[in-house]
Amino acid sequence: MSEKPKLAMYWAASCGGCEIALLNLHEKILDLDAAFDIMFCPCLLDTKKREIEALDDRSIAITLFNGAIRTAEHAEMAGLLRRKSRMLIAVGSCAAEGGIPGLANLCSRGEIMKTSYLENPTIDNPDGILPALCSEVPEGSLTLPLFYDRVKTLGEVSAVEYTIPGCPPESHQIWNVVELVLSGKPLPPAGSVIGAGAVPLCEECDRAKEEKRIARFYRSFEVVPEPGKCLLEQGVICMGIATRSGCGAPCPRANMPCTGCYGPPDGVADQGSAMIAALGSILDIGEVKGRSGAEIAARVEALLDSLPDCAGSFYKYGLPGSTIGGRVKG
Ligand code: SF4
Ligand code: SF4
Repeated sequence: MSEKPKLAMYWAASCGGCEIALLNLHEKILDLDAAFDIMFCPCLLDTKKREIEALDDRSIAITLFNGAIRTAEHAEMAGLLRRKSRMLIAVGSCAAEGGIPGLANLCSRGEIMKTSYLENPTIDNPDGILPALCSEVPEGSLTLPLFYDRVKTLGEVSAVEYTIPGCPPESHQIWNVVELVLSGKPLPPAGSVIGAGAVPLCEECDRAKEEKRIARFYRSFEVVPEPGKCLLEQGVICMGIATRSGCGAPCPRANMPCTGCYGPPDGVADQGSAMIAALGSILDIGEVKGRSGAEIAARVEALLDSLPDCAGSFYKYGLPGSTIGGRVKG
């Protein structure tokens, strides 16, 4: 049996991008393998759940858990890995804040089932059968985990020591965290975000910032932004003001707006409402003097009408972890 500390990775409701980010460590993956016994990782290894259950409690040094909690199976695995691990790290937007799967919280479970299994044009389901917790078939009983009413963050079902943000986190930041843990240096207090900056992304974005005044909003495909100039000042919703730094601003550097995957910076509880508040102060409503309240309101309304997809723009990665995350219909 290996004497190396044990490392586990688990994916719940996620796309696999966090595993790709880990593989993007390139040759450093060999250092990771040298330092740890990577003993659980469903996308790479066939370790069985019963083997994890058989371990002593707290015998896994670190579990890197990515993905949101969509089903009872995800919550059960979070509980099991919590019990078996000395350090549980939420990796990526989905585990940290619900991520893109969390936008499903805008719909009820019934609506999701209806769209997926009854109205989906690629599904042939003439009898309108919906997934059931238990189905009897000639071979025996088939069971499925409960599909929760809403997507939850990992922190809602388990205590988490640290969070590495990002969709996915930049590989070098995952490595920085591994190195920090291996170094034996004092770690930040439990509950901290690690491997990322504390200030808003705008501070590490090298686009020129002048006075922000927005006269209309554009979706990114509607304009070719001027290079070198702040995207938000050009009317493209760039979430840099309300997003944590640390990624190096690859999206604005590629002439694309930041969509906010690193979550809110330190001191900001709700990324979407912080962004909305910031936008409220930079809308260009023109000359106010001599105009009636109704005229000004109409101008604001017209400006807001050009705002694309509010939930998808402001809460793309963080709806379940936001202050409105628990609201679902039906
Ligand atoms: S809003 Fe976007 S483009 Fe503008 S400075 Fe911030 S990160 Fe850069
Ligand atoms: S620029 Fe924004 S969307 Fe792009 S990686 Fe950084 S935080 Fe994520």
